[in-house]
Amino acid sequence: MALDLNRRGYDVALCDQAKFPRDKVCGEFISPGADPILEQLGVLNAIEALTPKRLKGVAISSYESAELGIDYPAATETGSRPTSLSVPRYQLDALFLKQVQSAGVKVFEQHKVTDFIFNEGCVAGVTGWDENKTAFSLSCKLVVDAGGRNAVSLKKFSLKREPSGSTKIAFSAHWQGVHLPDDYCYMHVSRPGYTGISSVGNGRANVVLVVDRSALGGEKTEVFYHRVLMKNSRRNEILLDGERVEPVRSVESLAFAVKPAPCGGLILVGDATGFIDPFTGEGIYLSLRSAQLAGEVIHAGFKGSNFSRNVLSVYDQQRRQEFGGKFLLSRILQWLIYNRPFCNRVMKSLASNRVLAETLVGVIGDILPAEKVVSMRFLFQLLAGTLKGKEAVKLREGG
Ligand SMILES: Cc1cc2nc3c(=O)[nH]c(=O)nc-3n(C[C@H](O)[C@H](O)[C@H](O)COP(=O)(O)OP(=O)(O)OC[C@H]3O[C@@H](n4cnc5c(N)ncnc54)[C@H](O)[C@@H]3O)c2cc1C
Repeated sequence: MALDLNRRGYDVALCDQAKFPRDKVCGEFISPGADPILEQLGVLNAIEALTPKRLKGVAISSYESAELGIDYPAATETGSRPTSLSVPRYQLDALFLKQVQSAGVKVFEQHKVTDFIFNEGCVAGVTGWDENKTAFSLSCKLVVDAGGRNAVSLKKFSLKREPSGSTKIAFSAHWQGVHLPDDYCYMHVSRPGYTGISSVGNGRANVVLVVDRSALGGEKTEVFYHRVLMKNSRRNEILLDGERVEPVRSVESLAFAVKPAPCGGLILVGDATGFIDPFTGEGIYLSLRSAQLAGEVIHAGFKGSNFSRNVLSVYDQQRRQEFGGKFLLSRILQWLIYNRPFCNRVMKSLASNRVLAETLVGVIGDILPAEKVVSMRFLFQLLAGTLKGKEAVKLREGG
């Protein structure tokens, strides 16, 4: 967001409470749909210089079945298949910050924003504490809250809506010596949850486990993490000779929705706008894309010297329009994976129909529009069987 606004010629100050490099619980693979955004921001080459892994798709195992590898679909224009970046957040986020700094953005690390300054009912700046516990304040025309799942706006304006039902918890750690048969993100669905295992380059793999909070019982985090990982025979094969190289980190309350900001002068991007369970692993893309959409609306706001709630609400509408289908798909997949017979049936459909499988992975990878799969017809095909030749072509062409 900071880079986007800087490139449009605006004066940007960025406050982050953290000191970089800092780590983060994340699956660490970035949808291929993010590549063009990263390129446009001028950071793709610098990311490639970190020698990240490039993954060719997703390999899924349903309740200990053999993994089904599904490649991202080839682009119609070039015929080439996109890949997804897989890179540790510890490196990626520090690199982003460096790029932002060298572009001329004023960066304030270890500056925790705790409140907003208001002018005539509109946000007109922030206040907070720096690393020495000294108070600071910054006045500005517009505040972008990109503070993630614990963003200050969510607390200040009570914007967070936690879903009813069970709370999920995610655990993650990097490993070395893991045996990954191919360049896929390996998703293993089984009880009491699912894992995502992918190489992140330089001989390391990231192993993320997501379960219902209740499954943890009173067990110690690291004991629980290893026990659940190893009790799945497919994962066991992958991890048997591997070694965890850092403490297990965790994050709770994986899904929440967010109400729109109640006043002008404030715009929310990234996880601050809501979060869906990370099974489809696309939060980084959604954050980058939401910042792009916000950039356009902010630019228009500057042109008209108007950051009223009315003007900024265009952004909320655009986001809903663009991401609504993806969120629905994610919810459908969530429901399917926790239901063993359905999950097995979907796997059968995907295994017997490459077009169906690649279309689904293309949508998850943000290279095909969600409308391709968010339909009763597609859902029926997933659950009920295979597509015939002509229908397959129709589906791929958006019929
Ligand atoms: C288990 C798990 C697995 C995931 N796997 C993937 C995946 O494989 N691929 C993918 O694309 N996405 C994945 N995600 C989602 C992804 O991590 C997020 O969507 C993404 O990081 C959101 O980016 P963001 O910039 O909005 O927020 P964040 O990355 O959370 O950044 C927010 C920043 O704001 C700072 N901050 C917060 N509050 C304040 C404050 N008050 N003052 C100052 N600074 C503040 C924080 O220090 C932080 O640096 C996963 C998430 C989870 C939980």
